[in-house]
Amino acid sequence: MAGHLDYATEHGLKLLREAKSEMGEAKIAEVISGPSAVADQHARKALDLYRSAMNWLEDTEHFEVAHQQMDKAGAYIKRTFGCYLALEKGEYSQRCPLALAHNRIGMSPTFLIDKVECSICGRDPDCCEHIRSRTYDGERCTHIISEATLISASLVSRPAQPDARLLGVPISFRELQAQFGPRFERGMRVRCDRCLTPCDGVSNPFRDGYQAAWEAAESQSRVDGRDEPEEHGSSWARLL
Ligand SMILES: [Zn+2]
Ligand SMILES: [Zn+2]
Ligand SMILES: [Zn+2]
Repeated sequence: MAGHLDYATEHGLKLLREAKSEMGEAKIAEVISGPSAVADQHARKALDLYRSAMNWLEDTEHFEVAHQQMDKAGAYIKRTFGCYLALEKGEYSQRCPLALAHNRIGMSPTFLIDKVECSICGRDPDCCEHIRSRTYDGERCTHIISEATLISASLVSRPAQPDARLLGVPISFRELQAQFGPRFERGMRVRCDRCLTPCDGVSNPFRDGYQAAWEAAESQSRVDGRDEPEEHGSSWARLL
């Protein structure tokens, strides 16, 4: 008999069902009209949902199920539609949900609270007569954070918000040139390497001791001046 599931697991399983149904839609659309934009959209949506399902099911018995289903969906998508690195203003980045999902890294944001409001009167709770958790005319008084500043975001293995993950990982032009040789030019399409190679499992950088390697790669992409568009400074890591 299945026991009581916690919210995260239940939510994760729901995402998994939604992902499966998006995959079904993608396959139907593909059978009817070939690898059309519509079919592709369903397939990408499915990958995003699978990624989210993995996030919510992390550390449960269902994680591996979600992972394997995602790999299967990814293989179909690669065969049918192809998968490429994102290319924006000459800068490459890995945005493939399948590739990103295999790196079990999350973000833990630190906020500075700038403004708090009383939910009853909207004033600063320090200056109003309402008491938190007390009920006034049927409405419970809470303190709402209405303004906050993001101070920092650190990389963690298990973010409090399961979907707080990297939106993309920059790949330096030099790195690509080293891989493809001098004939490689900025602007050429690059296939997603994760989708080309069979799965060798997810990596847990903070658990497997890869953190140093990750930090080195990250700082390398920073010093690689030409590859870092100024206006994007440190926007490579954003909350989903
Ligand atoms: Zn008040
Ligand atoms: Zn891919
Ligand atoms: Zn995999």
